[in-house]
Amino acid sequence: MKHNSGSEAIEKIQSHILGHGLQYHVSQGEERTVIGIVGQIFPELKEEIERLPGVLEVVLISKSYKLSTREFKPQDTTITIGDTVIGGKNNPVIIAGPCAIESEKQVMDTAAIVKESGSHILRGGAFKPRTSPYSFRGMGVQGLKLLAKAGETYDIPTVTEVMAVEDIGMVASYADILQIGTRSAQNFNLLDAAGKINKPILLKRGFSSTYEEWLLAAEYILSGGNEQVILCERGIRTFETGTRFTLDITAIPVIKKLSHLPVITDPSHSTGSWELVPPISLASIAAGAHGIIVDVHPNPSEAKCDAAQALTFKRFKAMVKEINIVTAALNKI
Ligand code: PEP
Ligand code: MN
Repeated sequence: MKHNSGSEAIEKIQSHILGHGLQYHVSQGEERTVIGIVGQIFPELKEEIERLPGVLEVVLISKSYKLSTREFKPQDTTITIGDTVIGGKNNPVIIAGPCAIESEKQVMDTAAIVKESGSHILRGGAFKPRTSPYSFRGMGVQGLKLLAKAGETYDIPTVTEVMAVEDIGMVASYADILQIGTRSAQNFNLLDAAGKINKPILLKRGFSSTYEEWLLAAEYILSGGNEQVILCERGIRTFETGTRFTLDITAIPVIKKLSHLPVITDPSHSTGSWELVPPISLASIAAGAHGIIVDVHPNPSEAKCDAAQALTFKRFKAMVKEINIVTAALNKI
């Protein structure tokens, strides 16, 4: 729409679109308003819309994903949770906590350190997608309650994974952000359900998903009406077996170019090794990531899940200091 085109012109276009049995999504930016039209577009529609008052131009988005593109929404999406803002030009957000919630003491002690370090969000899995059914699969609802208690006690927002469509409302009642893990990244029913709730979704990249497939997964959530999606590069499967997965650092600038959504990385689940977490975290921030999510545990060697990749409290605090130095340096550029 033209600058200052006014609400009347926008409403006229909306009713025109609905009259053709199509759907619309409005993106109101500071600079301009974009109306996205979704559905079976017929060739004459472009010219029809171009003739309506207030229209600056009609652009056909040729990409398979639409609502997540910069064409649809040129300005960065930012997601606000309490005092924390993820995305845009805001400083990177640090999300940290145990891979799995194991006990009240474990999650409370970790929350205290995460908060004290100046990090922003507490992670902790209660429903764990495990490769083997014999591995520890999480504490379930009891774990969610402990996570919520730790979040409230230390005044820090929380994120946890949801695996099943039927659990989504219940998980959303305990956590501030819902994670969809790499193994669920193409569970289209779950993505649809995530589009219907009013909580931010941290969407991991499927470990064999292309950028297009990843953004199409986000599209499911956006097209359902939930605009709060945080994309997370968590490593992909390559021929290299020296690390657990290969973190695709290139994804950060590429996704930022293609999409307005915030993009973070998971240096823990990608590398699978605590020693690699600090350098890959720093590299992610330097490459422009809007944040990182990392595993921290009071006693990594005894962790019930992903022990090899968890940072001790001491190493985590040292890493946060290094991240702050990189962030300060980037802010000077
Ligand atoms: C996790 O963050 O706990 C997790 C299982 O991550 P991913 O889905 O990336 O493996
Ligand atoms: Mn894990």
